[in-house]
Amino acid sequence: MKSFVKRSLFALVAIAIGVAVSFAASEYIRDNFIAYQLNPEGSIAWYELIVTAFQWSLIALSALLGGFVYIGLAFKEETQASGKAQIKDFVVSQGQFRTMYELGPTPYFIISPDGVIAEPNKAMLRIAKGTEAEIEGQQFSAFISKDDVEKWNDLWHKFGRDLVLSDEEIRITPRDGIERFVLMSLFHIQSGTRKGWGLGTLVDITERKEIDRAKTEFVSLAAHQLRTPISTIKWYAEMLAEGATNLPDAQKKYLSRIEEGTRNMNELVHTLLNVSRLEMGTLPIALEQTDISALATSILEELAPETSAKSLSIKTDFNAQPISTDPKLLRIVMQNLISNAVKYTPEKGEVKVSVAQSGRNVRVEVADNGYGIPKEEQDKIFSKLYRASNAREKVTGGNGLGLYMSRAITGILGGTISFISEKDQGTTFTLTIPSKSA
Ligand code: ADP
Repeated sequence: MKSFVKRSLFALVAIAIGVAVSFAASEYIRDNFIAYQLNPEGSIAWYELIVTAFQWSLIALSALLGGFVYIGLAFKEETQASGKAQIKDFVVSQGQFRTMYELGPTPYFIISPDGVIAEPNKAMLRIAKGTEAEIEGQQFSAFISKDDVEKWNDLWHKFGRDLVLSDEEIRITPRDGIERFVLMSLFHIQSGTRKGWGLGTLVDITERKEIDRAKTEFVSLAAHQLRTPISTIKWYAEMLAEGATNLPDAQKKYLSRIEEGTRNMNELVHTLLNVSRLEMGTLPIALEQTDISALATSILEELAPETSAKSLSIKTDFNAQPISTDPKLLRIVMQNLISNAVKYTPEKGEVKVSVAQSGRNVRVEVADNGYGIPKEEQDKIFSKLYRASNAREKVTGGNGLGLYMSRAITGILGGTISFISEKDQGTTFTLTIPSKSA
């Protein structure tokens, strides 16, 4: 504020001088100023500048206006600066923080090193469906749903190793017995020399999960319903094709288009059914001794029409023992990876599939020298329905479900999936599949 007062005084003095000069000018001054200019031929031209009282007044008025603008700007600057200072000076007091903790909408609690709940806030009591006396002092693990106890033990162990837990999805069963889905976070807090305590927060995502489940069920139902009419079209198209020896060429072409269309629809319906089973957790797993090299060979044979149509060079390197896994599920994953390599590689490109032993795991690599995945889109590639921009431009057939499904299935099989890719250079997907005990 001080600098504003100083500047205003300065501006007021300037205005006062301006006004005084103007007054004097209008009363007494009618000055003549003389100016001259040296002409090139040596003569001198004289000019007379006459400043009238009116002109003096204009000068004074400008000084006046300038002064006011100056004060205005100084005031604006001052207000902004003091605003900033006020924000900086505003500190959440301990009492205010306590109120936020107590009454805020997010469930908060403190957890002791042996997993006991302390200081549950009001929102925590609401989600746990109990009074303070009923919740405080309880083991947090007592609220974890039976099916997620193992997951909780892993997470608690992780927290014990000084790691932060951030938005971990877990199911809890509050005191009313109705299960809820929450995202749980646990942060380490230190109080004096006491260590191992945590601050926990929960975000209730039950409704979101229910909406997701309803959507999945709808997709599953629609896919089931579509299977019958598609089979009918396929069946009759095949019957027509069988007796089509004396059909004109154009009609034969139409028939093969119908067959191709129904094949694609059938595949899509299959994929949708698998995605919904996966999301509902109803995809059955059946373990058996599986020769992954034989699986790769059979997939490559199936894709032979596509690979030869594009004149792709196919390389293989198979060297692994059979392992116990689910061959049907693994086939879905490998089929996706290999068919993507074929789909996203231009004519005369190369696709290499290798299957190798890596300790007790089998490592499958599918490499191509095709279109690649742009760096900035790589983190979205496993998301449901995502297709990279270059893939959308170059290949129209695709639904963005293959990799989403592949990653989820790989997780079910206990394996990992990753890739490296360079745009216009190629992509290599790596899959590791452990031998599972039945
Ligand atoms: P889509 O049906 O589109 O192939 P996917 O889920 O199988 O769906 O793959 C998702 C996206 O990942 C593809 O649309 C493509 O952008 C990218 N992608 C997958 N595999 C490859 C590959 N081998 N080369 C280049 N891009 C790939």
